[in-house]
Amino acid sequence: MLPTKLTLAHLPTPLFHHAELDRLIGTEVWVKRDDMSAGPEAGNKIRKLEYLLAAAQTQHARVVITCGGVQSNHARATALLARRLGMRPLLLLRTLDGRAPQTTNGNLFLDALAGAEMRFITPAQYQDRDQLMQQAALALSQSSYVIPEGGSNGLGALGYVDAMAEVRVQLDRGQAGGPAPFDAVVHACGSGGTAAGVCIGAALHNVAPVTIAMAVCDDSAYFEIRIRHIMDEAMLELGASQPRAGLRVLDRWKGPAYAVPSEEQARFIVAVARATGLIFDPVYTGKALFGLSQLDPKPKRVLFLHTGGLPGLLADPGPFVELL
Ligand SMILES: *Cc1c(COP(=O)(O)O)cnc(C)c1O
Repeated sequence: MLPTKLTLAHLPTPLFHHAELDRLIGTEVWVKRDDMSAGPEAGNKIRKLEYLLAAAQTQHARVVITCGGVQSNHARATALLARRLGMRPLLLLRTLDGRAPQTTNGNLFLDALAGAEMRFITPAQYQDRDQLMQQAALALSQSSYVIPEGGSNGLGALGYVDAMAEVRVQLDRGQAGGPAPFDAVVHACGSGGTAAGVCIGAALHNVAPVTIAMAVCDDSAYFEIRIRHIMDEAMLELGASQPRAGLRVLDRWKGPAYAVPSEEQARFIVAVARATGLIFDPVYTGKALFGLSQLDPKPKRVLFLHTGGLPGLLADPGPFVELL
């Protein structure tokens, strides 16, 4: 039996095409607007959470525990959706010194509005995040459900298998020019769950022969192992072996550090905003789209997943102030 799933997102998300974007990138780009998958809960994580929070409900969890960086989009989506479903969010959030930041802005502000319990941990502690979340769960008097970083496990990845089925319907309806598959799906990769789901879904639903995951942290070798592991888990959830699209993980456009864009990447984000009105963020989507613009050769017709990230951008205009 297939895992149960909640309806939390506003679907299908539109496919967006803009001639100026094609010109800036140098190929035909269709943007799947998963940044419009909801209100403040929007982004790619809501698709994973439709499965993960269904499991939490089935297990009668009262508390949902997850983790991420201090500006985690995943933690914010989990906090808001947990509250929608009447559960209490508990977040382990990584900061440089393991202390609460001076300002509560962006995603963190939304976490606070949701009344999430927030525990701040150091990067060293974050290495043991799975263990820390288990300990937090054991220490609670109420039943809880632990969601791994980014919602990236086999169950969460099913959200992106389904997203590719959604794209297949859009292709068949002529919403991307015609029914032919794309030449590649391109997206930002931070914990691997999106890439795993896309690889399976793109092959299963004839959306594209290859997935190009642009790493924003770690490196290609790490993600290739990680994504394959999540795909194996997803196959177990689906109860059968499934085809897989080709996977290319590229780590050349991570920028100077996680969540820090290069000046060139920041300039690119500004140029795209001014040419198209589309906003990409400096942590994930902006780096991935920049990577696509640098690829040589480029796939001819691309599906680019806009996975969200606006709250993080609003939290820190720093990289852009000189460019405006
Ligand atoms: C989490 C996230 C990603 C990366 O998705 P993973 O499944 O974690 O690899 C990309 N873009 C945004 C905006 C995200 O929040």
